[in-house]
Amino acid sequence: MDFVLFGIQGSGKGTQSKFLAEKYNLSVFETGAALRVVAQENSDLSRKVKEIIETGHLVPTEIVMEIIENFIEHAPKEQSLLFDGIPRSIEQAEAFDALMKKHNRDFAGIYFNLPKEEAMRRLTTRRICSKCKTVYPAAYAENTCSNCGNELVTRTDDNAASIENRLNAYNKETIPIIKKYAKQNLIIEVDAKPSIEKVTENMLEKVEMFLIKSS
Ligand SMILES: [Zn+2]
Repeated sequence: MDFVLFGIQGSGKGTQSKFLAEKYNLSVFETGAALRVVAQENSDLSRKVKEIIETGHLVPTEIVMEIIENFIEHAPKEQSLLFDGIPRSIEQAEAFDALMKKHNRDFAGIYFNLPKEEAMRRLTTRRICSKCKTVYPAAYAENTCSNCGNELVTRTDDNAASIENRLNAYNKETIPIIKKYAKQNLIIEVDAKPSIEKVTENMLEKVEMFLIKSS
């Protein structure tokens, strides 16, 4: 069983994905990283990707799918995969479904559900290390960086208007995809409001239940 992650910025999706990948020994697909890997290769695909990156254009769905297919084909057959940051639109979701079907891969979406207001609160109160730029959530109690000991400051790019725009855009694009998969009983919903530990516990429990049900 492969997994696809959905969650608004601030939902803790990135943190939880690490626990999930560790628990099930998942091979993680992350769009940005995959693009950088492909760009370094010497292939037709890498030349296309480099051109798109250099011109600053959005990577079209068909290229994203080629990159995912490349990833699927290179992953060990028995290993489950974790997709983060994909699909981003209904168009991508449909192409993604076809690709997974072609490769006989079953998947479930894990949706970290966090109300927009709570995401706003988290994002506007997080801090960043003034030196190494590590980001700390509002819940982090110390005033210094645990990596390098330098002072934490409020992020200057975290102004409410631009955060709200990002969150609105995310909801507009992603909620329809989640609804589509929910109709197919492919969504594992996790409440992202509690503490990191609680969310992890809840996520792993629900994933186990889903795996038992679908086996
Ligand atoms: Zn630091």
